[in-house]
Amino acid sequence: MPMATKEEQRKYQREWVARHRQEYLKDKFCVRCGSKEELRVHHKDRNLKVSHSIWSWSEIRRKTELAKCEILCQTCHVEHHRQDGAYQGGKGKIPTNAKLNSTIVKEIRNLSLSGSSNRDIARLLIIPRQTVDDVISRRSWKMV
Ligand SMILES: [Zn+2]
Repeated sequence: MPMATKEEQRKYQREWVARHRQEYLKDKFCVRCGSKEELRVHHKDRNLKVSHSIWSWSEIRRKTELAKCEILCQTCHVEHHRQDGAYQGGKGKIPTNAKLNSTIVKEIRNLSLSGSSNRDIARLLIIPRQTVDDVISRRSWKMV
């Protein structure tokens, strides 16, 4: 057997993260609407956010981080971020052709690490799917 390629290692990492997320979310529901569909871990206060990479952490560290979070379904999460308007200084939406900045790029990567698909991220941040793909695969914004 040849050694695992980078792609295989990343795949393994993604599956591991997905399993831990699933395990945590299996008896949870959305705090706003009670849905059990497409749940997301949402940081209540973005200033307290340490990282979205919590699923690869030790249990005690993860619990500390999760205590700062609430569970939202995808629909309520999107709605929350729309109202929040954090992605363009409070105006609500990023135009499709918006120039990325490092804050948005970091948000894209955080969302990806937290288990959102590229499609979800594009929808959530209202940016083209191709832009998300490029950022995640580091074809663009390698330095962030
Ligand atoms: Zn909900």
